Amino acid sequence: MSVAEIMFVVAGLLLGLAFRGGTFLFLIPFAIVAFVLAWLNRPRLAGPGSQAAPTANIPIITIGSRATNSNPVVAPDLRSEFRNEHGMANEPEAALKVSQVWARANADINRAMTDMLCSLKIIIPNVNTAIVFTQQVSPKEWGVRNYVNDKEMSVNPSARISENSGLLSQMFRAGVNRILEGDLPSSKILSYYLDNPSVKSVVAVPLTDHSNNRVGVLVVDSTHPNNFTDRTVQALVYIAKAISMLDYKGFYSAQKHIALQQYAGLYNYQRKFFQTMSVKDIYKQIINYVKDNVAYDRLTILAMNKVNENAGRVVFCDGVDSSQFLEKRFTLSDKGIFVLAMMRNRPVERNFAPGYNEYVPRLNDNEKRNLDLRQLFVMPVATESDAATADLAICLESSSSRPYSEHEKELLKAFAGVAGFAYDRARKFEYGRDLAMRDGLTGLINHRTLHESLRSEKVRADRKKYNIGVLMMDIDHFKHVNDTYGHPIGDVVIKGIADTISGEIRKEIDVVARYGGEEFVVGLIETTAEGMVETAERIRKAVQKLTFDVHQSEPLKVTVSIGAFLVTPEFQDMKKAVNNADQALYRAKEGGRNQVIRYQLEDDSAPEKV
Ligand code: GH3
Ligand code: MG
Ligand code: MG
Repeated sequence: MSVAEIMFVVAGLLLGLAFRGGTFLFLIPFAIVAFVLAWLNRPRLAGPGSQAAPTANIPIITIGSRATNSNPVVAPDLRSEFRNEHGMANEPEAALKVSQVWARANADINRAMTDMLCSLKIIIPNVNTAIVFTQQVSPKEWGVRNYVNDKEMSVNPSARISENSGLLSQMFRAGVNRILEGDLPSSKILSYYLDNPSVKSVVAVPLTDHSNNRVGVLVVDSTHPNNFTDRTVQALVYIAKAISMLDYKGFYSAQKHIALQQYAGLYNYQRKFFQTMSVKDIYKQIINYVKDNVAYDRLTILAMNKVNENAGRVVFCDGVDSSQFLEKRFTLSDKGIFVLAMMRNRPVERNFAPGYNEYVPRLNDNEKRNLDLRQLFVMPVATESDAATADLAICLESSSSRPYSEHEKELLKAFAGVAGFAYDRARKFEYGRDLAMRDGLTGLINHRTLHESLRSEKVRADRKKYNIGVLMMDIDHFKHVNDTYGHPIGDVVIKGIADTISGEIRKEIDVVARYGGEEFVVGLIETTAEGMVETAERIRKAVQKLTFDVHQSEPLKVTVSIGAFLVTPEFQDMKKAVNNADQALYRAKEGGRNQVIRYQLEDDSAPEKV
């Protein structure tokens, strides 16, 4: 092996090393230096096509050892330059997202590749263009990856080489290992030029991947006839290897880096999950993690109902036709594939061939079908990995032909483990908080929570300048009910009236509380005096119609008395407001019960019968 060849190999090895862990990109200049040294030491021969000179004729260069020296003279400053300047830091920051890591790796590889092409152009005399084509669209179509050329000749950056695109398409033929032309007729125009330069010499060698498949071509041309020799071809073969290595290792190191970062990210999420007690925030964190780490065209998250174990709803949907799934409810009998994965607590994967006809329902049969979505992966999230059914499902769909990778699936599995635990914890916490906030018999909020809720409603009402109607109600002659039918029946009546009140107001908007034993308070949000009284009357009449079966000839019937007070934006004290409603209630009782009395401020501060 000649010194030059050794140096070429060293250059290749250095490049290989440069991409091992991503941190060693700074070795690229050494590789280039090694390459330059190799080139300077190449055996010089008489004419084109002649055999290599024996190595004995080549003078041993004294600086040869420097390239392998562990502390080369040029290294330190180059090293720091590479680290600090122009965003050339080759270690992407931990917070970078997957797409950014890819972009950064790609930019690094391109820069290194351009450097190599530049050195080729400098070292080989009379070069017009040094250009690399790589597989971009398909294995049978290569596009321009990088090039260096003379300014006056413009390369078409979207040029393609395919099987029938002239001279360079010979590279698709297995038997052709190189192209070496020294006397091109002027009619033969190279497809990558926009204009029509009189290129005479061309040399090209294939780029191969690690399994020796051809993935591109390295081309160098010149307007000088017979500009290149067999030696040039040999040199280009080495450079082509280094370029392929650079590409492959760069890709591989970015991939490894992303994987590392994603797993490191898991620990971050574990911490975030521990700081979170809200189910809603857990959903948000799941969405963020998936968005940052896995590509999708539609992401759907399903949650099982806490009470009815047979049903659930879609809590999040993003992407293609997402609106059709949002908030959609489903039952386990719907038999969609998302639901199935949840029901069995097992990941499900489907790859659909292009143009397939058999649509597999996601939630149920009547949903909008989209045959462009060709990949599907569902990761169930359960409290325990061996649970029979899952609590959540993360459903990913993609229109790409590439199936979800093992890495992506493993990552989601690990994430689901962490998320499942956190979700269960948050759900239990919210349930406990609910217990403290709510009354066990009726499920309504309690006295304390009512005041908190009225206070925050008042802040909102003041901002938007609307009224809140406060109703205070009390069951008439309830002692009598207890005394006659017993306490348990009394409880049934209280529960029945609570349900009736809830049925007469706007769910999720108005506020209703069990204020005391058989007293209720309702906050009517954004109402008028008339609206408030109307609602009060409606409740009163609905209660009057209620019947309770007490196993006697006549069913039990009860009535309520209601005091009402309208809180206008000028009125600030919500405790006083409840008090005023209570005073009106007192009048209602005095006035004969089963009636609504409204408390009015202006007139004579005396409650007024409706
Ligand atoms: P009025 O028409 O004046 O309201 O007459 P009333 O008999 O309803 O009088 P009051 O409102 O003072 O009655 C309160 C009664 O409600 C006393 C108590 O025995 C009963 N009570 C309070 N809480 C409960 C409860 O949780 N369950 C049952 N069964 N009874 C309750
Ligand atoms: Mg009472
Ligand atoms: Mg009462």
